[in-house]
Amino acid sequence: MLYKVRDEVTKDYDLVVIGSGLAGMTAANILGRHGYSVLLLESHNKLGGFATWFFREDRKHVFDISLHGFPVGMIKTCRKYWSKEIADSIVQLKDVRFVNPQFTVQTDFTKEHYTQVLVEKFEVRRQTVDAFFDYLAGMNFYDNSQLTNRELFEKFFPGRNDVVRFLMEPITYANGSTLDDPAITYGIVFSNFMSKGVYTFRGGTDVLIGKMKDELLRNDVDIKLQAKVEKIQVDGGKATGVRVNGKLIRARAVLSNSNIRSTVLNLVGEDFFPEDFVQKTKAVRLNSSSCQVYLGLRAGATIPYIGELVFTSSYPVYDPERLLDLKVNSRTFSVYYPHESRPLEPDARVAIVSSTNCRYDDWKNLSPEAYEEEKVLMIEETIKGLEAFIPDIRMKLEVIEAATPLTVERYTLHPKGSSFGTKFEGLEVSMNLHKTIPGLFHAGSVGIIMSGWLGAANYGAIAANSIEGYLETGASP
Ligand SMILES: Cc1cc2nc3c(=O)[nH]c(=O)nc-3n(C[C@H](O)[C@H](O)[C@H](O)COP(=O)(O)OP(=O)(O)OC[C@H]3O[C@@H](n4cnc5c(N)ncnc54)[C@H](O)[C@@H]3O)c2cc1C
Repeated sequence: MLYKVRDEVTKDYDLVVIGSGLAGMTAANILGRHGYSVLLLESHNKLGGFATWFFREDRKHVFDISLHGFPVGMIKTCRKYWSKEIADSIVQLKDVRFVNPQFTVQTDFTKEHYTQVLVEKFEVRRQTVDAFFDYLAGMNFYDNSQLTNRELFEKFFPGRNDVVRFLMEPITYANGSTLDDPAITYGIVFSNFMSKGVYTFRGGTDVLIGKMKDELLRNDVDIKLQAKVEKIQVDGGKATGVRVNGKLIRARAVLSNSNIRSTVLNLVGEDFFPEDFVQKTKAVRLNSSSCQVYLGLRAGATIPYIGELVFTSSYPVYDPERLLDLKVNSRTFSVYYPHESRPLEPDARVAIVSSTNCRYDDWKNLSPEAYEEEKVLMIEETIKGLEAFIPDIRMKLEVIEAATPLTVERYTLHPKGSSFGTKFEGLEVSMNLHKTIPGLFHAGSVGIIMSGWLGAANYGAIAANSIEGYLETGASP
């Protein structure tokens, strides 16, 4: 059932899920389907977390926030844990472009085409490229190698900043990775993408989340929106429920899809954990945040085909730190051609979403006036950047808006507007949570590997498996 905002929850549940990101929803769906009583609580007024969208001008314009591309694995994940109907709407993006001072490349983002480009355009020896891909394929999460991305690239492509840009820049956009992050995170995420290219959900995020909501309700998952969990209840060392508006909702297990640091330090509280666990949690670094500019075209306005995902930059070299600058000169355009992205909506309009990675503090520290000025500047620079591809774009625009890390923080409750969870060390804290407080589980963007649509949904499935074990035996797996 879907609770109304004013309804009170009076029954107890097997599981309460805090947050309806892809991880929280996937776990809720699996356990609901397996016959457990599940309550999904979401502080926002809609499901989805970062998998979200917004309408403008009486729904004439729709903007997808995080539907830019995910690996092919999402098809299997959706078929297994959601429905065939959802899985069948996932389609490949065939045209990914890079335009920067070092190179211009058009690709389908597959290993085969990347290999061809690296050999023919970048003139890297075929054996080196093959050895690089073989090395990535052989990387194992449990190896615990200390190798960084910088060292990985130096090992295979010494002194080749252009090659590193080609291999790394899209992953930096996808999950905020830098050259100092562990190479294992790059290896896993890049290999996932390279296996068959980049995919999207045809129909838009609103349609996807609508279908997921229907599926949750079909599986008897109870849902309450605008329900912000204030505290996780811990009695006798075990999680026993959550508090919403001061009222206790009892559950045999709790899954938090909230940020891992907030879960440990705020929702539970330091006093309930051993000191070393608290210290490990405090040492978890948050990932960077995002800025976006949303451009909606007038009814009937068309644009030339410029690709579906365009990584553009006027910066001379690849430098992940510069990608975060306030005065950014690198951005990714996601272009939503309505006949492709929303084929069932005859009146759908062209939408373009420009994304840049950025630092929360750069925006947070601005005065209100400076903040507004920076937003205007960011919009202007984005439109100018787009004019290089579509010279008359300005005349065609009807909706122009921008979001900053402060917007991200406000809508998702992620500290510092972190778009991609935490750095690698967050994974250990997340995975050990239920071993520290039995009955309390975490799933959601952590550790780079578990972020993104596929990472989050798969982590939800992994957590569901552990929770089921706990509910069956009463012991933490
Ligand atoms: C701008 C941007 C672009 C992106 N682009 C892509 C992309 O192209 N491809 C891709 O794969 N990934 C992309 N991502 C990342 C991807 O969207 C996320 O990694 C993924 O959706 C996160 O899912 P999650 O399960 O971690 O939960 P989240 O999406 O973080 O959702 C958590 C939910 O929990 C709720 N919540 C938190 N605390 C509480 C509380 N106390 N009580 C109740 N509810 C609470 C929040 O309101 C939120 O709805 C992008 C992210 C951003 C920000």
